[in-house]
Amino acid sequence: MCDGSYRKDLIMNTAKEKSREEIMVFQDVELQKLLHYLNNNSPYYKNQFAINKIAVDKIKTVADLTLLPVTTKDDLHAHNWDFLCIPKKEIVEFCSTSGTLGNPVTIGLSEKDLQRLAFNEYNSFVTAGITSLDTIHLMLSLDRQFMAGIAYFLGARMLGAGIIRGGPGNFAMQLETISRLQPTVLVAVPSFIMSLVTYAKDKNIDLNSTSVRKIICIGENIRDEHLKLNALGERIANNWNVTLFSTYASTEQQTAFTECQCGNGGHHQPELLILEILDEANMPLPAGEFGELTITTLGVEGMPLLRYKTGDVCAYINEPCKCGRTTMRITPIIGRKKQLIKFKGTTLYPQSLFNILNTIESIEDYVIEVTQNDLGLDNLTIHIAFKLENERDFSQIGQLLQSALRVLPAIKILSLADIHKMQLGDGKRKVNRFIDFR
Ligand SMILES: [Zn+2]
Repeated sequence: MCDGSYRKDLIMNTAKEKSREEIMVFQDVELQKLLHYLNNNSPYYKNQFAINKIAVDKIKTVADLTLLPVTTKDDLHAHNWDFLCIPKKEIVEFCSTSGTLGNPVTIGLSEKDLQRLAFNEYNSFVTAGITSLDTIHLMLSLDRQFMAGIAYFLGARMLGAGIIRGGPGNFAMQLETISRLQPTVLVAVPSFIMSLVTYAKDKNIDLNSTSVRKIICIGENIRDEHLKLNALGERIANNWNVTLFSTYASTEQQTAFTECQCGNGGHHQPELLILEILDEANMPLPAGEFGELTITTLGVEGMPLLRYKTGDVCAYINEPCKCGRTTMRITPIIGRKKQLIKFKGTTLYPQSLFNILNTIESIEDYVIEVTQNDLGLDNLTIHIAFKLENERDFSQIGQLLQSALRVLPAIKILSLADIHKMQLGDGKRKVNRFIDFR
């Protein structure tokens, strides 16, 4: 198990000791190690290097990455087990992606990978100023091959904090647990927190008198691309006097980006990932320009990834953070490349619709649906469940969408039960508010 010793010598993110130059030198060395490791152990990359006539000895620095092909989600999906670099019997934990786009991909972790995963969330907690004196209430699934659950659990173990495995859902139970066990930190999906706030209000429970001081928000944005709290973030902040921390992570990269107390973008962990933001031609973009987040894993034994295109669009921030860490940060993900909607002459990501719909108090929940017509054009329908029957305020929603998007999608009113049915269709693990039939 994790004894806290995993790469403690390399804690750049938390120790604030390493300069940019030291980080660059470290990453160049780690990259060369990775390329040799892949060439010796990865059936997929061995084949790629052969096909593309790549001599791994020639790749010396992170800047040389552009000489290598990228890896796409489709590659990982089509050749999932060819990415495995260890004998299958050495896998100690099988995690899978949620399959938001297509079928799930399995990521097999070795013992060392599990320690790396723990170290990654240990670092995340430290970045958010959380210590061994905190009690962390995990409001997320620890089963169903969900990586984040086990990652936060192991990270909290490494930190030496108290852990409450609250699981997802069940407002009454979560509030009872908070009052009984006095956690100081929650790890949760922000839209669940918003619903918890509403539930507590209905029951006359004062959340500000609870022990909770910080919430690590996973799976959804609480900020916009300018790092300002979005509607969801603001609604939580206005109702609960806690510090919110935005995060970004994916199963494939086995690493999280977590904000520090400055709330200025998710800090990169350079000991665990090489980060590139790529344009359409797979060339790196400079700081501040939005492109596809592309990662190369460092220190992964089971299924390391080289130039893996996450499909998520963001920009990186290069100015040093006020917290003193030298690492780069990333903006919230403004959308998934595949989810870009082209509707009546405008282009938008589902996230911008989420941001608008989350500002409307009378909406209980919703689903955005995109289909494609015979002409190859996108059709957009927003399915809405209202909180109260008499609050079906069409005109307000119409006006808000029209002014924000300059176009008006179709709006359909459904019961909350029907919305929930749509969100969890096909037995998906995650609540899905964007359904893409294209
Ligand atoms: Zn910072």
